[in-house]
Amino acid sequence: MILRARAIWARKERIIRDGALQVCGDKIGQIGHRDDVLPGVGESLVDLGESIIFPAFVNAHCHLDFTGLAGELSPGESFADWVKQIVEIKRSLTLEDHESAWLNGAEMLVRTGCATVANIESVPELFVRMAAQTPLQVCPFTELIGFHENDEESALDLAKRELTNNKPFSLVAGLSPHAPYTTTPGLLSEVAGFADEHDVPVAIHVAESEDEWRMFTSGEGALSENMKALGRHPGDCGQSTPVEHVSRSRGLAKRTLVIHANYLGAEDSIFLAKPGTSVVHCPRSHAWFGYEPFEYERLAKAGANICLGTDSLASAGGAGSVVELNMFDEMRTFRRQHPKVPAADIIEMATMNGAIALGLQNVLGQLEGGSLANLGVIPLPNPLADVSEAILDHPGPVGSLLIAGKRVFSGRNSIAN
Ligand SMILES: [Zn+2]
Repeated sequence: MILRARAIWARKERIIRDGALQVCGDKIGQIGHRDDVLPGVGESLVDLGESIIFPAFVNAHCHLDFTGLAGELSPGESFADWVKQIVEIKRSLTLEDHESAWLNGAEMLVRTGCATVANIESVPELFVRMAAQTPLQVCPFTELIGFHENDEESALDLAKRELTNNKPFSLVAGLSPHAPYTTTPGLLSEVAGFADEHDVPVAIHVAESEDEWRMFTSGEGALSENMKALGRHPGDCGQSTPVEHVSRSRGLAKRTLVIHANYLGAEDSIFLAKPGTSVVHCPRSHAWFGYEPFEYERLAKAGANICLGTDSLASAGGAGSVVELNMFDEMRTFRRQHPKVPAADIIEMATMNGAIALGLQNVLGQLEGGSLANLGVIPLPNPLADVSEAILDHPGPVGSLLIAGKRVFSGRNSIAN
């Protein structure tokens, strides 16, 4: 099948006006100007008219099973307050709640142009039950928590079991020691070592809040007190920044997604720019908590691979507002906080940079011959419009979404049957 459109945003440096793209099974065949990409004998041709075809989004961080918590929590007095709220509310959630939220979240992402997501799986065995129920390419990261040395063995057992179960159903399966404040340094290094041995990525929340910063730099504060009450020994705190702590604990695997990185010390960008390490920024969640500005410029200058994630809806909404998981919203929120960053760079953060973080850069994240045919279609409001700006301005849902060559969503302006 050949798709024609007024514009194809293939990757940051390649925008094709009057373009055409060939879908061959689950992959992209030829791509180029419409005069150069012609249908073969019997091959169908679909002209999408005044539309943009773009690479489907790669959401580098999400918790699908918290989708039902939109507007249920408040940022509170501090991050430690929010942690208390979520621990409390999680106790009331049933397995059915988690499952329906997970599916609901997956639907939201598909509707808004996302094909691939790095998702934190906090309920063991949930992913394998749900994977076949969505076309979304969910890359499951098994959440691991260990407050005490005695918890390390069972956490590693869980990691091994879930990886074995999840791998056959995903492009990439990984592990997620939750955060340095909920894990021992021993568990961090064991997990990173195990991940490297099995060539799988690690995702970890690091330096999200001021409370976490205080816990690791001074050994004090509300989060530190909360964690002590849960049995986490504070002996390793008060010596370094959260990022330094994870690095010193040998918690950075060869491929690591560092989620948040909101509070950084002078040297931290060096650790975060290491090849194989990526920083995942979640603009809307960041704004909801009212954190200090994200240090995009410093990290970008250091050479860090910065990607975008939606985080969960447990840190979104409130006061009657309707929120959904939506990468267009994340890009626009980022744009508001960083108005000087070019639109094409922001789209790259939501596509290719996420693919790099997952080690899938040869498979998805751009529209190129041989890549998976993961692509979205949205209207081009005016033929002379800047294509990158038009993508950023689009509110979602998309007109159509193809994942691995299959049409999985169509709204208005969809690809005809
Ligand atoms: Zn998270």
